[in-house]
Amino acid sequence: MSEVHVRVPGRVNLIGEHTDYNGGMVLPAALSVGLELTLSPRADEHVMARSNGYKDVQRSLSDAANNNWSDPVVGALREARSMGLIAHGADVSITSTIPAGSGLSSSAALIVAVLKAAREAGRGEQSNEELAIAARRVENEYMGVPCGIMDQMAVALATSGAAMALDTNTLEYELFALPKTHKIAVIHSGVFRKLTEGRYAQRKQECDEAKAFFGTEDLCLLDPEEVTQSSFAETPRKRALHCATEHRRVLAAIEALKANDIASLGRAMNESHVSMRDNFEMSLPAIDALVSDAQKFGATGARLTGGGFGGCIVTCVESAAFDDWVAKLLAVHPKAKLIDTVCGG
Ligand code: ADP
Ligand code: MG
Repeated sequence: MSEVHVRVPGRVNLIGEHTDYNGGMVLPAALSVGLELTLSPRADEHVMARSNGYKDVQRSLSDAANNNWSDPVVGALREARSMGLIAHGADVSITSTIPAGSGLSSSAALIVAVLKAAREAGRGEQSNEELAIAARRVENEYMGVPCGIMDQMAVALATSGAAMALDTNTLEYELFALPKTHKIAVIHSGVFRKLTEGRYAQRKQECDEAKAFFGTEDLCLLDPEEVTQSSFAETPRKRALHCATEHRRVLAAIEALKANDIASLGRAMNESHVSMRDNFEMSLPAIDALVSDAQKFGATGARLTGGGFGGCIVTCVESAAFDDWVAKLLAVHPKAKLIDTVCGG
């Protein structure tokens, strides 16, 4: 059977962290780093997977997840088979410029790439939204990662130069051009983490406790004042307060983008970092220092991005000042690395 080739971008979330499984809005944008994948359907149940920098593996479609790098591939092929896109296993080969485990959705890019390739191979008619929903199932049910829908929707649907304002309850979205005068820059902190390490799951659990207490699935739609005044235990109350305020910051950021008011966009990003640090407690001292220096050297906005506990920060910096700014920042943070910049128009 013939070979299919697809490319899926990484994504950076401008603002809206941990809102995507709490009924809120998010604002991700496609990056120029991406993942390329070649898929050839096979006539048996084997999955042969290879990727630069990873050990070649031979798996079977009947395998359970076993903490191997290829779990997203096997899980995605199982979904593709249940959608009737492939009848058996496949050979899959990957090259990627998205750093893994850094909050830029390498896992979602890999799963969505397998599903898009399988759709092409099987001449399927599933929409990109349907593939995004299937991709989330792979992470939630096959791999046991309790993530929301943002990553999958963003890598399946976002277009370059635009941010995607996504309502994670309804999956309705609108694209807004990124600023033309500023660069959105993604900088890796040098600290790596794995979502399966458990801290992400712990935050999800704390949000579930808050959902039970407040009697709603949509922590993001609670009134922040009501959360603050409640008699709820401090830790889950802080998690709920992050969700309720972060959702409002996303709305403010969307308005700011629409009005080309980059100062307000930056303010929302900076406030988001404070809430992630103090209320959601998902940052680390090394990342706080990187964000603080990014702001000190002149970024309009800077915050941790992604699931937390490592990975990347996202910044918004005036284009004319960018080279000088990044040189100063990397000089005092030698472990940090510029991954990508994107902008509108
Ligand atoms: P991220 O924030 O990048 O999505 P995750 O921990 O969710 O981080 O996903 C990382 C996992 O995705 C890796 O352990 C591996 O299973 C898979 N992955 C990502 N990029 C690649 C790649 N280039 N080749 C093979 N597997 C990859
Ligand atoms: Mg991931």
